[in-house]
Amino acid sequence: MDATSVMWFRRDLRLADNPALVEASAGAGVLPLFVLDPALWDPAGAPRRAYLAASLHALDASLRRRHTRLSVRHGDPVEEVVRAAREVGATTVHVAADFGPYGRDRDARVEAALAEHGIALVRTGSPYAVAPGRVLNGSGQPYKVYTPFSKAWAEHGWRGPIDAPHGGHWLEVDSAELPDEAAPDGVELPDAGEDAARKRWQAYVAEHLADYDGDRDRPDLDTTSRMSVHLKWGEIHPRTMLADLAGRTDAGAATYRKELAWREFYADVLAQRPETARDYLRPEFAAMEYDDPGPRLDAWREGRTGFPVVDAGMRQLRATGWMHNRVRMIVASFLVKDLHVEWQHGARHFMRWLVDGDLASNQHGWQWTAGCGTDAAPYFRVFNPVTQGKKFDPDGAYVRRWVPELAEVAGRYVHEPWQSPDGVPAGYPDPIVDHQEERREALDRYARITS
Ligand code: FAD
Repeated sequence: MDATSVMWFRRDLRLADNPALVEASAGAGVLPLFVLDPALWDPAGAPRRAYLAASLHALDASLRRRHTRLSVRHGDPVEEVVRAAREVGATTVHVAADFGPYGRDRDARVEAALAEHGIALVRTGSPYAVAPGRVLNGSGQPYKVYTPFSKAWAEHGWRGPIDAPHGGHWLEVDSAELPDEAAPDGVELPDAGEDAARKRWQAYVAEHLADYDGDRDRPDLDTTSRMSVHLKWGEIHPRTMLADLAGRTDAGAATYRKELAWREFYADVLAQRPETARDYLRPEFAAMEYDDPGPRLDAWREGRTGFPVVDAGMRQLRATGWMHNRVRMIVASFLVKDLHVEWQHGARHFMRWLVDGDLASNQHGWQWTAGCGTDAAPYFRVFNPVTQGKKFDPDGAYVRRWVPELAEVAGRYVHEPWQSPDGVPAGYPDPIVDHQEERREALDRYARITS
C-alpha cells in the first residue's frame, strides 16, 4: 500500500468509468499526468489541437474539484513519463491499452524505459467495450467481415461501467502550462470534456435515440448523436453508453449498438493489420491507375467541385470539424471514383480537420467507401452525388445551410443547379467533372485490375 503510481492519460480523458484510473488509485498516491507528444500534436490540424486543449482543461477542472490538478509535460513520452514517474517515486504507471500502430510501439518503448528503473507499465482496459483481438471465430482467428464480428462481439459482452475512484491521495509534479489553442477563425467546436459528453449523451437518449434508425442517414435533420468526438478522446467510455442501451428493445437502440460495433470492428481490423493505416487492405487495388492529386483535389478540399452535396460536406468539415456520416461516404466516393485520387489523400485531409479523427474508423471508412476495404462496398457501386443529395437531403436544407451561393436556388434544382432555367448562380462553380463519364472511367480502371 506504500507504492505510488502514475495515471498516464492519453485518449481516456475522464475520471468516471476509467478502470486504469481505479487501478492507479489503489496505492498510496497517484499522479494524473498528460504528456503532449510532438509526434501526435504537430501533425494534428488546428481544430483537433483546439479540441484536445479544451478537453485537457476540462479534465484539469474535474481534478481541481478533487483538490488536485493535471500535471502536463511536453516531449517524448519515453523520457517524460519515466522522469515524472521517478519524481513521485512511482512503482507503476497505469494506462488504458492503445491498439493503434503508433500507440502500441510508443507504449512498448515507454515500458522498456520504465523497466530500466524497476517501474512497471500496467495496461487496464482500452477505449473499446471489447479490446481488439478478443473477438475470435471458431478457429481462433480474427474476423475479417463486420456482420459475423458484430454478432460475436455482442455475444462476448462487456463489463458494466464503474464509478470514478472515491477518495485516494493525489500527487503533483512541476507542470507545463495546459495548452491553449483557439479554434481557427470561423470554426465552431462542440463543448469538450467528460461533463459535456455525458450531458450530450443523456440528452440524445432522451430526445433522438428512438428515431435514430429512421433518421440517421439524413444530414438535413442533423439528428445523429455527435458522440464520435467524445468517444475519440475517451471523455466517455462506450460501455457507459452500451449500459444505457441495454434493456431497450427499440430499433433506434439496436441500430445505435450496431454503429458502436463498427467502431470496435475497425479498431480490431487495424490492430490485426496495422499496415492498413496507409496501405490497401486489399492489395490488388494498389495496382489500379490513379490520377496525380492536383487542382481537382484542391477544389474537393475547399468545397468548390460544383456538386452541391459534396461541397456542403467539405465546407461543414472546415466550419465545424465534423461531417455527417452519409456525406462522408458521398465525398469519399467522389474523390476516389469521380476524381480518381487515391483514398490516402482524402483520409489525410479528414484526419487534419476532423475533431473525431480516429485512425481506425477513418482509414477503414475510407477504404470501405473506396471499395478496397473490409466488407467492401463493391467497387462498381459508385455514389451519384445528385441522386444521393436528392434522397438524403430532399428539400436541400443541408446544401443551403453550407453553400450560401445556392440559398436562392429553387427546391428541386438545388442538387443540380446547372439544370435550373436560371443557370448556376454567380459565384458557384460549374461541375468540375461529368459524373457519368467519370463513373465509366472508374469502372474501366477497375476492370483492368480484375481482368
Ligand atoms: P452516430 O450516427 O450518432 O453514431 C454513433 C457512434 O457510432 C459514432 O459516434 C461512432 O463512434 C460510431 N460509428 C457510427 N458509424 C460508424 C462507422 N461507419 N464507422 C465507425 N464507427 C461508427 N468516425 C470517427 O469516429 N472518426 C473518424 O475519423 C471517421 N472517419 C470516417 C471517414 C469516412 C470516409 C467515413 C465513411 C466514416 C468515418 N467515420 C469516422 C464514421 C462515421 O462517419 C462517424 O463515426 C459518425 O459520422 C460520427 O457522428 P455521430 O457521432 O453523430 O454518429
